[in-house]
Amino acid sequence: MNRFSTKLLAWYEEHKRDLPWRQTREPYVVWLSEIILQQTRVAQGLPYFERFLSAYPTVKDLANANEDAVFKHWQGLGYYSRARNLHKTAKRITEQYKGFFPNTYNELVKLPGIGPYTASAISSICFDEVRAVVDGNVYRVLARHFDVESPINQPKGVKVFQELAQNLIATSSPGEYNQAIMEFGALHCTPKTPHCSSCPFADSCLALAQGNIAARPQKLKANPVRKRHFHYLIPLDSYNNTLLTKRTHKDIWQGLYEFPLVEAPHHLSEEDLRAHPNTPTWAHKAVWSKFQEKAIIHKLSHQALHTHFYILENIEEELSVPWATVSDYAVPRLIERFLDKFNR
Ligand code: SF4
Repeated sequence: MNRFSTKLLAWYEEHKRDLPWRQTREPYVVWLSEIILQQTRVAQGLPYFERFLSAYPTVKDLANANEDAVFKHWQGLGYYSRARNLHKTAKRITEQYKGFFPNTYNELVKLPGIGPYTASAISSICFDEVRAVVDGNVYRVLARHFDVESPINQPKGVKVFQELAQNLIATSSPGEYNQAIMEFGALHCTPKTPHCSSCPFADSCLALAQGNIAARPQKLKANPVRKRHFHYLIPLDSYNNTLLTKRTHKDIWQGLYEFPLVEAPHHLSEEDLRAHPNTPTWAHKAVWSKFQEKAIIHKLSHQALHTHFYILENIEEELSVPWATVSDYAVPRLIERFLDKFNR
C-alpha cells in the first residue's frame, strides 16, 4: 500500500461516521445511499434514505412501485431525473437480472442513472473491485494534496484525476479506501476551512506548502444561467377543486405535476397574460388575483425561473382535483413552496 492510502485508512478508522449504509455491503442499500447523497449532505439525506428504504425495502419493492409514489418519496431532493432512473434501474434489475445487482463496474455502468462514480462506488464497496471513485470530495483532496492545476470541469482534467485516484487506491480494500477519501474530504479537508493544522498530510500536502489551498480544485467559468418566465394559473371552482397537469415533455420536472402554466420569453403583465394565446379559455371569465407582487425566483443548476402565481376564482367548469388532495401529487419544489405559503 502507498503512504497516502495507509495514512488515509488510519484516519478513517479513527474518524468515520457511523452511518446506516456502512453497516452493509448490500448493493441495493449502497446504491440508494449513493444516489441520495449525490443530491444532498449526509444530515439532510439521511431521513430521505430511511424513508425510502422503509417504503421500498428491496429492489423488487421499488420496481413494483408506481412512478408517482416514487416521486412523492423523492420530493424535496430535486433532480427528479435521478428518481426516474432509480425506478427504471430497479425494474431492469428485477426483470433482467432476476433481482441481483450485476457485480462488475462494466455491467453496472450500463444501467440508467449509474455513471462512472456510482458504478465505482458499488463495485468497490460491495464487490471489492479496484475502482477509484472521483466525486467532489475526492477532487478537492487530490487537487490540494498533489497541487493539481487541471480544471475539474474539463474532460482532460477529469482524466487526470481519474488516473491519479486509480493509482492511489488501496488494492486490498478498495471499498474502504473509497469511503475513506470521500469522508476525509467531507469532514477534514473541507471546502472553506480545511483543518490543516491537525491534518495527517500536513507534511506532504503540496497546496499547503505552496499556499494554493483556496485555488484548488480549479474550475473553469461555468455557462451562463438561463432565465425563464413562468406564470402559473391556479383555478378554483365553486367546490374548491383545481386543476393539475403532468409535465410530459423533455424538460425540467418531467413526470411531475403542476398548475396550468404559461411560459413566455419575458415577464407578462396581467393584461398580457389574459390575452396570451396559451391562456386557457376558462380563465377569461374568472376573477383574478395575484398571489404575490414580486416574482419568486427559483434557481436550478443552470436556470433561474422567474415565477408569478395567479389565483383564478369563480371558474364555471367543474375541475377535477379537490384542493385537499393537491399535496398527494408529486410536484416540483417551487410548487411545494407555493402551497406551503398559500395554505398557511
Ligand atoms: S493539509 Fe489541509 S489542504 Fe492539505 S490535505 Fe490536509 S486539510 Fe487538506
